[in-house]
Amino acid sequence: MPSCREITELLTDYAEGRLGLVHWLRLQLHLGMCSPCRAYLRQLRATAGALGKLPSPEVPADLQAELMRRFEGWKDRR
Ligand SMILES: [Zn+2]
Repeated sequence: MPSCREITELLTDYAEGRLGLVHWLRLQLHLGMCSPCRAYLRQLRATAGALGKLPSPEVPADLQAELMRRFEGWKDRR
C-alpha cells in the first residue's frame, strides 16, 4: 500500500501524462481507497484543466477491472 505522500508525488507525473502502467495502477488502487487523495487529484485536475494541458487517459471499465484483478494477484505472490 503506497503512502499518501508517495501518491501525491505520483499524481504530479499522472497530471503530466508520464506515469508508467504499474505506477498508474498503484495510483488507481490508492485513489479507490483514499478520499483525501481523490480530493487532491480533483484539485490538481481543476488547476491543470484551467490551464488546458491535462491529458485524460481513457481506460475502458472492463479493462480497468481486469488490470485491477491482475494487480491484486501480483501483490498476493509477493
Ligand atoms: Zn492517500
